Amino acid sequence: MEEKISLEIVTPDRQLVKEMVDEITAPGSEGYFGVLPGHIPFLTTLKIGEVAYRRERETRYLAVSWGYAQVEPAKMVILAEIAEPAEEIDIERAQRARMRAEKRLEEKTEELDFERARAALEKALIRLQVATKKLPQ
Ligand code: ATP
Repeated sequence: MEEKISLEIVTPDRQLVKEMVDEITAPGSEGYFGVLPGHIPFLTTLKIGEVAYRRERETRYLAVSWGYAQVEPAKMVILAEIAEPAEEIDIERAQRARMRAEKRLEEKTEELDFERARAALEKALIRLQVATKKLPQ
């Protein structure tokens, strides 16, 4: 039997994934990284992005925003501040969030919190990207 790695993805509210998988990619603060069984241990913070994990021929996707990932040879734990599997993403809500953030960034009013607006836009764009990758029902 082929070697697998245990993947756990949790948020402060719930456990989203607990599964033996073949391969994971995640958005580290220094960029996307891939994890295969037997990876050397490391710890990183996460940015806004897409987590993908493959089991056999099936790959599943989640949108995540911030948190930590801890990698060990036989186990990876992702503690995400916010995470949604592709199947749970409300596309209209993400489109509205995208429009709001774009408007704020365009208007550039004095009260604009640039980092906050930019992060809101990035979250919305990642949600829209991940939503297109849901598994066929
Ligand atoms: P909005 O402006 O639409 O409220 P947001 O980016 O401010 O979005 P977050 O603070 O990132 O929202 O998330 C708050 C909660 O709402 C989290 O539990 C998150 O998973 C969920 N959430 C946010 N947007 C969506 C979406 N488009 N589809 C599904 N769940 C979402």
